[in-house]
Amino acid sequence: MQEKNRPIEDRLKLNVRYLKGVGPRKAEQLSRLGISTAIDLLYCLPRRYEDRREIRLIRNVEPGGVFTIKGTIRSHGIWKTKKGMLVYEMVVNDGTGSIHGVWYNQPYLKRYFTRGAFIILYGKVESFRYLQMTHPDYEVLKKEEEDLEKINMGRIVPIYPLTQDITQKYLRSLIYREIEETSEAVKEIIPTHIRARHKLADIAFALKNIHFPHKFENLKRAYDRIVFEEFFVLETTLAIIKDKRKRDQRGIRHEARSGLFESFKKMLPFRLTEEQITAIKAIEKDMQSDHAMNRLLQGEVGSGKTVVSMYAMFLTIKNGFQAAIMVPTETLAQQHYLTISEFFMPLGISVRLIVGSTSSEAKNDIKEQLRTGKVDIIIGTHSLIQQDVSFDNVGLVIIDEQHKFGVSQRSLFRKKGRGPDVLIMTATPIPRTLAITVYGDLDVSTIKGLPEGRVPVSTYWVEDDRKDKVYRFISEEVAKGHQAYIVCPRIEEDGRDETSSAKALYEHLKNNIFPDLKLALLHGRLAGIQKDKITSDFKKNKINILVSTVVIEVGIDHPNATCMVIESADRFGLAQLHQLRGRVGRGEHKSYCILISDPKNEAARRRLEAFERTQDGFELAEEDLIIRGPGEVLGVRQHGLPEIRFGDMAEDKDLLELARTEAFQLVAQDRGLRDERNRNLREFIIDKYKGRIKTTDMS
Ligand code: ADP
Ligand code: MG
Repeated sequence: MQEKNRPIEDRLKLNVRYLKGVGPRKAEQLSRLGISTAIDLLYCLPRRYEDRREIRLIRNVEPGGVFTIKGTIRSHGIWKTKKGMLVYEMVVNDGTGSIHGVWYNQPYLKRYFTRGAFIILYGKVESFRYLQMTHPDYEVLKKEEEDLEKINMGRIVPIYPLTQDITQKYLRSLIYREIEETSEAVKEIIPTHIRARHKLADIAFALKNIHFPHKFENLKRAYDRIVFEEFFVLETTLAIIKDKRKRDQRGIRHEARSGLFESFKKMLPFRLTEEQITAIKAIEKDMQSDHAMNRLLQGEVGSGKTVVSMYAMFLTIKNGFQAAIMVPTETLAQQHYLTISEFFMPLGISVRLIVGSTSSEAKNDIKEQLRTGKVDIIIGTHSLIQQDVSFDNVGLVIIDEQHKFGVSQRSLFRKKGRGPDVLIMTATPIPRTLAITVYGDLDVSTIKGLPEGRVPVSTYWVEDDRKDKVYRFISEEVAKGHQAYIVCPRIEEDGRDETSSAKALYEHLKNNIFPDLKLALLHGRLAGIQKDKITSDFKKNKINILVSTVVIEVGIDHPNATCMVIESADRFGLAQLHQLRGRVGRGEHKSYCILISDPKNEAARRRLEAFERTQDGFELAEEDLIIRGPGEVLGVRQHGLPEIRFGDMAEDKDLLELARTEAFQLVAQDRGLRDERNRNLREFIIDKYKGRIKTTDMS
């Protein structure tokens, strides 16, 4: 068995240049499609398919439809349009009627065809004075090419992504031959019992039918199998990494004395929601274990994550450790500092703040206190991961708005301690599909609701021509003593339109629209001290309207502001819009979010409509994923988005869930994939994740 298989297995790894009909030049061209070995050819999946099963008699074609016809070339030639364009045209007759094939700007085609030749055309039929197909797919039938005909016509035909100098037919025939010769030899990596449980096709069937299906049902089965495999391999790998880390990261065993949580609750001015309690319990359990916690806590802006994290701080301090919180902006750091110190200082717990603008003298002081254990809780920005910051014994590190940090910053922060527990917080809801892929190695807690008494923000999308009404509305709100934000996509103009620039809009509003009100302009290029002044004036209601860029996206908590107006709203992603909306509706007053936009395309319209419809951040995140795809949603690669080539995280989310469940179960039973049934999977993963996963991780 072994001996017989070996040559074909080697053949699968063979560089395509050695395959019949390829050679070095074609191999180079194929590499642009990501194809370098024979197996890559098998996994070069079609973009779409064309149903060319039926050959129609020309008499029976219906204009407007797409058909395959077969006949003889009766005449052909080149002519010139009035504008001088060259047109190649042929007339094909099958004994029941004639059809014209027309190609613009491709006079060289004439050389390929001869009068009297048998030909197949595939395309949309239009009706002029005669029937016509414009730029149809064609196939000249020669005796020796009958085999080719089998591949390209009279069947469901795969259409591949192409690159220069690689034609559809060339690639198709290459793949066809490879499937015929080797698909049976591809190793099955999904264990049989898992395939059986979900009625998944075997790999040979899947490969044959993803390329050359005889019917669409087979194609569906093939697709499901291949996508499941992709997700399954990814999730198995994540399960292995997570399991390995759990075992490796000797953590701190925090003790939760009985009554500790009760006493914490008593100190709060409100009652925790069920979801907050559930999250706290999960965190407490993680922290009590001697493995390091790696937990993601997600929830809407204002859903009450901070107080949950405060219990974790409380727990670590009661155990004699320090807690550190890293946030992306100074504003946010300051805000956290206020909340956290207000709660902890009265308990005799020392809380400090360290940010970029902290004087170097004060910084040195704080660092010294951190090192010697005189500070219990430190809140800061990136300054916290500087080399010269060290802790006496940090037991808990918290990262807020974690998507603003890279993976390496997270790990630097963690290394400030000896296996500290890690709590990551985010107010950018992550669709579950992304959570289990990108953050598949974290445990996740979710707070879905908002604390009681929060009034939903009324959201309206209006087009540019109704702007005046919006401004009038703002004046009315200001007259009631409330305040407004007006957000623009950019600071400066880019020549497209002035309302997308905060500076220009500020000038315009101040001079022409609200001459009697107090306006201020806030953007990222202002010095920290200027920003602070504006923020604090706004808080004191010395400013009626704050014109701003997205710098206010996180961290400003000001209940008296009731209007959030977003200019050129189509230029923002849903997550960002959602964050902005979260800036209002924070007090008891009815609040409004108004989007101004004339969107340029359908996707943008869809986004704005979805935003108007729902306030549920998770629903918006799912929507965003469908509209923009995972890369855009996360803000690309550095966040460790795994490459998903075949599946679609939104469309195929059921398969992803299934793969996730099976993978984690498999690794729970056989973490090293040592079982004979898992051997092919093991070898595949080791080979695929070379360098990222070691064989020792799997033992
Ligand atoms: P997040 O960090 O998720 O954005 P916060 O923790 O800052 O949210 O909470 C927003 C506001 O809601 C804060 O003023 C907080 O004191 C308050 N809050 C939190 N939990 C509750 C609760 N269970 N009941 C009432 N108010 C709450
Ligand atoms: Mg927060």
